[in-house]
Amino acid sequence: MLRSIELRALAASPTRHVSVVIDEPIAALPSLTPVQGELAVAHRGDFLEVAGHAQTIVTLACDRCLQQFNHRLATNFEEVIWLEDAPVEVPLELEVPPAHLDELLPRDGRLDPVDLIYQHLCLELPVRNLCSEQCQGVKTTQPQEPGLDRRWSALARLREELG
Ligand SMILES: [Zn+2]
Repeated sequence: MLRSIELRALAASPTRHVSVVIDEPIAALPSLTPVQGELAVAHRGDFLEVAGHAQTIVTLACDRCLQQFNHRLATNFEEVIWLEDAPVEVPLELEVPPAHLDELLPRDGRLDPVDLIYQHLCLELPVRNLCSEQCQGVKTTQPQEPGLDRRWSALARLREELG
């Protein structure tokens, strides 16, 4: 498991820069291959400059035909994470949406590289899961034969036994 980056320690380090390599599965994102990538973090005083890339292969279910298919998921990102001094009490009515909170960290907090990469990979998940552009969807041309349904055959057997 990759350790989270302690921001105070990063600020005190000579280069104020750290780069980590990820090569492990992420529990929240079931994938066929480990998530592989890299994350570079530079401490700039009031903010962090973060750049990274990662890739993996996930199995998705096609929205049209329901078949599973493999999808290469890749992300390449750069972002700025602002640092704040003390946890600010945010009035409920002014609460920022969760997406925004990710761009703000306590100055003496930690940055979790795996979680950051996970979030960016999730952003790359397709809006529609299609096994292929030409997917014809579930084939409905074949009529449903009740005899093929196991529940019906069980019922038919029961009828025979009773009769
Ligand atoms: Zn399909």
